[in-house]
Amino acid sequence: MKTFDGVDYLEIDGLFSEEEIAVRDTIRAFVTDRVMPVIEKHNREGTFPANLIPEMADLGVYGANIQGYGCPGLNNVAYGLIMQELERGDSGLRSFVSVQGGLCMYPILAYGSEEQKNKWLPEMAKGKVIGCFGLTEADFGSNPGGMITTAKKDGNGYVLNGSKMWITNGGVAHIAIVWAKLDGRIRGFIVEKGTPGYSTRDIHGKFSLRASVTSELSFQDCRIPADAILPNVDGLKGPLGCLNQARYGIAWGGLGSAMACYHEALEYSKTRIQFDRPIAGFQMVQEKLAWMIREITKGQLLALQLGRLKDAGKLKPHHVSLGKMNNIEIALKIARMAREVLGASVNTDEYQCGRHMCNLESVYTYEGTHDIHTLVIGEAVTGIPAYK
Ligand SMILES: Cc1cc2nc3c(=O)[nH]c(=O)nc-3n(C[C@H](O)[C@H](O)[C@H](O)COP(=O)(O)OP(=O)(O)OC[C@H]3O[C@@H](n4cnc5c(N)ncnc54)[C@H](O)[C@@H]3O)c2cc1C
Repeated sequence: MKTFDGVDYLEIDGLFSEEEIAVRDTIRAFVTDRVMPVIEKHNREGTFPANLIPEMADLGVYGANIQGYGCPGLNNVAYGLIMQELERGDSGLRSFVSVQGGLCMYPILAYGSEEQKNKWLPEMAKGKVIGCFGLTEADFGSNPGGMITTAKKDGNGYVLNGSKMWITNGGVAHIAIVWAKLDGRIRGFIVEKGTPGYSTRDIHGKFSLRASVTSELSFQDCRIPADAILPNVDGLKGPLGCLNQARYGIAWGGLGSAMACYHEALEYSKTRIQFDRPIAGFQMVQEKLAWMIREITKGQLLALQLGRLKDAGKLKPHHVSLGKMNNIEIALKIARMAREVLGASVNTDEYQCGRHMCNLESVYTYEGTHDIHTLVIGEAVTGIPAYK
């Protein structure tokens, strides 16, 4: 498998610490050696490379930026670089890790009891317990506050009814963080696989994120114990706080896909001969490559500043929206441009930019659509919400 040396037009590596670079290079080598040889097969067959779960645990990628509870406690820039490198392999792999850390371990850490933290976080860091995050419903995507899944107090516990749609890791998860309305207020619950009344159904026929499990979760009179509730949060700020963690990682992840596509287009253009010369020598191909490297470079600086703000405790949700929105938009455009540069060759999965392009179409939609992040930024700069 060919090595990947990264994309660094502006000596941005000089802005990272030695530890951050070491973490990045470790994950980069893992993706080159363990992911790239198998990812096209998994994408073609619509399967998740589950054998990599323990290997990624050994690399400390689950909850990498969490302190304590058996987690590595890396800073947020190192965490972001992990997301970047994983998504250079495939958005599905990065999604798996984002959901595990940002959407499942984070709410247990931030909103859970000490017992819940001690019970779940060390096992999740080891990859022995996999989580999924159930917020979206078939009729409530961008507007999750309208959800109809309910929890009712019943003796010494709760009863859940409803369903969740498009849930990453759903079918493989040992626990689900489920958001449901209890007396009209959104609350989070930890629901264990095998609980009577809880079932999952994997969604097939996907065009994108094919190397990732996406499922529907159903709850029918699903009785869970009193200690399943996350005690320290209520309202929409609970799930939105988690999404903010995961979206931060996505801003970095998009750079990984973009770098993979740029790199592929560049290498291809240098060897593909048309009209007796490499197509890299044509102005219109160079215009595409120049646009790609320009936008990757700006995206790298944006992600890095988000990370430094996060480490300083100054990162706001509307900052994260800027990063997610920009870096996924440019990654998607770069994947489409790379597709143009590859001509007909893009039609086979011998090349990766077609797979990244399909994946990014979903990443553009999930964790807040591009348009919803536009509205978040619009509200931040005008003070006027325009969602309704
Ligand atoms: C592969 C995949 C994995 C996912 N994983 C998870 C997961 O693990 N957990 C989870 O809970 N969810 C998950 N999701 C769901 C995802 O978060 C939702 O798809 C997303 O929030 C958008 O919701 P929707 O698809 O219902 O689109 P809708 O909300 O119906 O939006 C459709 C269109 O309308 C636009 N729109 C909506 N409201 C407005 C408005 N006020 N102003 C302007 N435009 C608007 C949107 O921008 C979009 O273009 C996943 C989705 C996918 C595709």
